[in-house]
Amino acid sequence: MYDVKSLKAEEFISDEEILETLAYADANKENVELIDAILNKARERKGLNHREASVLLACDMEDKIQEMYDLAKQIKEDYYGNRIVMFAPLYLSNYCVNGCVYCPYHLKNKHIARKKLTQEEVAKEVIALQDMGHKRLAIEAGEDPVNNPIEYILECIDTIYSIKHKNGAIRRVNVNIAATTVENYRKLHDAGIGTYILFQETYNKKSYEELHPTGPKHDYAYHTEAMDRAMEGGIDDVGLGVLFGLELYRYEFAGLLMHAEHLEAVHGVGPHTISVPRLKRADDIDPDTFDNGIDDDTFAKICALIRISVPYTGMIISTRESQAVREKVLPLGVSQISGASRTSVGGYAEPETEEEVTSAQFDVSDNRTLDEVVNWLMKMGHIPSFCTACYREGRTGDRFMTLCKNMQILNCCHPNALMTLKEYLEDYASPETKEIGNKLIEQELEKIPNPKVKATATEYIHNIADGKRDFRF
Ligand code: SAM
Repeated sequence: MYDVKSLKAEEFISDEEILETLAYADANKENVELIDAILNKARERKGLNHREASVLLACDMEDKIQEMYDLAKQIKEDYYGNRIVMFAPLYLSNYCVNGCVYCPYHLKNKHIARKKLTQEEVAKEVIALQDMGHKRLAIEAGEDPVNNPIEYILECIDTIYSIKHKNGAIRRVNVNIAATTVENYRKLHDAGIGTYILFQETYNKKSYEELHPTGPKHDYAYHTEAMDRAMEGGIDDVGLGVLFGLELYRYEFAGLLMHAEHLEAVHGVGPHTISVPRLKRADDIDPDTFDNGIDDDTFAKICALIRISVPYTGMIISTRESQAVREKVLPLGVSQISGASRTSVGGYAEPETEEEVTSAQFDVSDNRTLDEVVNWLMKMGHIPSFCTACYREGRTGDRFMTLCKNMQILNCCHPNALMTLKEYLEDYASPETKEIGNKLIEQELEKIPNPKVKATATEYIHNIADGKRDFRF
């Protein structure tokens, strides 16, 4: 039944294959010889398949787990350096016709405040986000063909890209909306989106159907095959994810990697990003009613294993995670984080008060401002990056992967990160953050291996201090 190249959900995410994988992992979780062989394969930067990675996930030998962490850190450093790309979610509308039992947008929830931004309100949100310093957004919406049709989403994307407030600009809009048709994906592609993100929620078909009892999202195959349609529609950067807490994490982990293997096998390019959201408290939602929550150590192990299994896939952590958890997993392979996020509709321009009926999707655990997050990252030796160059230079899909595989990050992404950080420091940072950042930029320029690139980047950074903007390699 299992066929990585099949276009049928139940064949490329075969339940039978996952169950066999879990049995194989259990049988081998103390097989040191096999574990060492798998770790050695990962050390050669060849990635791991779902079976190999599942053995490592099942293994609970302390010394081997430490090896996994060390390797994840090394791979992160080699391919991504110390850059962390920054983004923010922008909630457009929480109208939704689905019945997802874990999401407060579900149709039966009558006490959440339903809101949909007008184009004027979208503009206000974008100005508020630009004023913080954001350059990259992920737009979010519930599924509602009447209230949030594709035309509405496209209009919002146009509005977002059109706003140039002071030195601000949103240069990349990623999109997280419900599974849709090839035709609609083509429209999103033509509108100039970055990554199309869709979380699988769970790869277990039976659970999926129970967790999505009503509405268009109930259709497991339509949802699971969405990325193939997106790629058929011309989008070659897609972002996967599961919502940890809904089903058994080992099942989800195997499914996630099978999905990545499927995209690589069929389209020649794996997922651009993987997100690792965990279920959170929300209006009408108590995460404790779900049995499959994972602790922070398991979460960290999952992050490390994603890093070593798919070295060229970016990994995203949202503000669902606290500062402490973010600190724990950042070195293990995370490449993107959100900062200063609001999950309420219209929450950037007009934050909701405690007394107000909420429109938020879930409680965030990291409530710091973007300046605080940038400052914190730099103090830990990371470079906060506002870079959007790859997609604007047409380096999407396999072209980005090539850059990554050839380890050209230090000659390309690294200077781009420094230049966009410089823009942030000039336009938005507090004096303390600016001071730390300028020192960091000076040090980091020294790491650029190619002397020509180094000289040009240094010159551009001086130009930015003189008021010029938007340089990139
Ligand atoms: N409506 C779109 C869809 O159906 O895919 C996507 C937008 S939704 C705003 C983004 C994601 O939030 C969902 O895919 C889900 O994984 C996540 N989410 C929903 N309820 C959540 C909760 N209580 N805690 C954490 N994340 C949640």
